[in-house]
Amino acid sequence: MERGIYFDGWYKDNHCYHPSLPLRSMQMIEDLERYNGTLLVWSALGGGVISLPYLEHEAFGEVDPRLRFYGYMNDSEFIAECNKRGIKVFGIVFEVQGWEFPAIYSDDKKSFKELNVIKDNKDHDWYGLREFTKDRNYEVFGKKFSDYFPDGLYNSDGKEVTNIWEECCARDFNGVPCHAEWVEVKNHEHIAYSMCRNNPVWREYLKQIMKIQIDAGVAGIQLDECELPMTSVRYGGCFCKDCMKQFNAYLKELEAKGRLPGELKGVDLNTFNYGEYLKARKVVYPGNIEELPLFKFYWEFQLGAIKKYFKELADYAKGYGRQQGREVLVSGNFFDIMPCYYPMEPSADVIITEMKQSILKQAHWYRYVAGFAGDKPVIVAENPYGSAVYELVDLLNAGKGYDLYRLLLIEASAYGCNMSVPYGAWMGNTVKDAFWPPRNVTVEVQDFLLNNERLYSKKSGANVLVLYSFPSNYWNEAIAGYSSSVLDGEEEGTLSYSVIDPDDPNGVRMPFWEVVRQLSQNQISYDVKFMADGDLREDSFGMEDIRNYELVVLPACSTLTANQAETIDKYAAGGGKVLIFGAAAENVGGWLEKMKEYKNVVYCFNDSYKPKALKEFNRAFEAVYGDIRRIRTDNTSVGLQTHALENGLAIHLVNYGYSRELDAVEPVEELNIKVCVKEQEFGDIIVHTLQGRKLRYETGMEGDVMNIKIHQLPLYAVVELINK
Ligand SMILES: [Zn+2]
Repeated sequence: MERGIYFDGWYKDNHCYHPSLPLRSMQMIEDLERYNGTLLVWSALGGGVISLPYLEHEAFGEVDPRLRFYGYMNDSEFIAECNKRGIKVFGIVFEVQGWEFPAIYSDDKKSFKELNVIKDNKDHDWYGLREFTKDRNYEVFGKKFSDYFPDGLYNSDGKEVTNIWEECCARDFNGVPCHAEWVEVKNHEHIAYSMCRNNPVWREYLKQIMKIQIDAGVAGIQLDECELPMTSVRYGGCFCKDCMKQFNAYLKELEAKGRLPGELKGVDLNTFNYGEYLKARKVVYPGNIEELPLFKFYWEFQLGAIKKYFKELADYAKGYGRQQGREVLVSGNFFDIMPCYYPMEPSADVIITEMKQSILKQAHWYRYVAGFAGDKPVIVAENPYGSAVYELVDLLNAGKGYDLYRLLLIEASAYGCNMSVPYGAWMGNTVKDAFWPPRNVTVEVQDFLLNNERLYSKKSGANVLVLYSFPSNYWNEAIAGYSSSVLDGEEEGTLSYSVIDPDDPNGVRMPFWEVVRQLSQNQISYDVKFMADGDLREDSFGMEDIRNYELVVLPACSTLTANQAETIDKYAAGGGKVLIFGAAAENVGGWLEKMKEYKNVVYCFNDSYKPKALKEFNRAFEAVYGDIRRIRTDNTSVGLQTHALENGLAIHLVNYGYSRELDAVEPVEELNIKVCVKEQEFGDIIVHTLQGRKLRYETGMEGDVMNIKIHQLPLYAVVELINK
């Protein structure tokens, strides 16, 4: 199990300035060891999107004697210290950010007198990608653009690039650059353009960043916002010349397949410009993308582009690493594990994801993430936007909220992921603070994770599988919008923050999410398995993916490949239970009708009114699951997840009973667990708790059922059942 550290290391009570992270020190190394960290995310060498000489300075530059005095070092020295200790540092490539900073230079131009933070609002010069490309003020670092690109860089029109910042940014349909607004700190003059990776010049530039990071010794490369330029859709992008050219090429491919959208019949695809097309129709953009003409085609074009270029960069990093005699790992920021990442996932070694909404009680989201990651390590990072994090940090700053922080850390692991420890972590572009959690609590949880690694398994042992169909969902999720609304739980505080949409009876319908949320709320252990479309991602679905489950659930899997349809049919023919909720394989004629004929297949109609649909789903689920249920408790407010162990089964129990008044999770007086042991017989039982405190419990057999009664269940416990 990889234990991630969200290692921004930003300063307490100061702004979180991208892209250059604070200097690293030996004290930090000590902390990383104390926190049992094995893998650092967002952790080093971010400054390449200011300039390459700036990045080389981060990597290899001189360190001021007064900083040496306190054990500070440059990033290559820091990485070497981490490598010695087996801690994997991932170089962060802030792919989507292109920076310009206010700067004041010394008279001889050889140093910065001020940079980014300008005192007294003086007049100032600039430093960033623009100056770098133009060799302006190169004296600071002494290297010119041509030192990195001796033959120059040429864009897709064959023109030599003289300003990479303007050349490679994402643009709205008026040609105006889009900004990476979320990293531009309020009331600052610095400028972060949102960049476009569909521009080949930007990819060449990003490769140089990765090369320097690999030369500096990183174990891995993390490509942040690796869905760019789709990132810019909500900011008006991307209609840059390369996106427009490539979209036309995509449309020509559709034409060749006879799938060109009707409204483009007779249109010259050499001169067509989608941005102009939208502009002429006076659409509101960014806005409701569902209503934009041709936007689904544009979206699908971008899905292909982001996969292609993520792979190009991943292959470059691996190839260059091998030239240096190393296997370099590759990951990204698979933000919220949006479906758009599924086609590119095969190019990643580690799954790193920033949560869209960092709130508690997210079992279903973690199960989905674990399903996406499969056998690969998965590291989650919290995110302050639209989340409970600001309130949690306020509490922690006041010496409170420790149990809430414990829950934040442990919940991910309980459900099959890993929550990275926030280490001076991101607090957005407005708040002057970084997330520095209490050390003793962090150590307590991290020690538990280290010492009990065997209780965390990639295999849950669940007998229920929920299928996530990529082709049935990617567009629905895209048009569901970017609503980050969370309900601020006034009464119970941080723990009761919830996302508004799922509880809104008239909210957007997302049958997959509705189903997994219900199952988690009902303490049902289940796995999630993704199914590909066979186009953007190869369809490798097979009987081995479902054979070991007793029940397979298909929530609104409206599109299945022929192979998937056939596999599920065979599974049902072999006696496997199938619960079909709503639309299913609409593209495979007669499939649903045939499936309905099996007596072990249950079809549940998906009513358009959410509460009714869910009520019916629950009823249908209970009917098929009732006699194969393995575990139940008498208190459904406790979160429950099984992990299959080499020599038994672990039942992870998360007690969410936080009392705002006591500022602590109150123990559950008595929890009764019934485990059906028809298939597996258990001998010894061990109950583990975070602080190692012994719990009082009793066990007894009643036919095939093992009863476990736990007294005073604390915030978290793991019941380890050891095979006889
Ligand atoms: Zn673009």
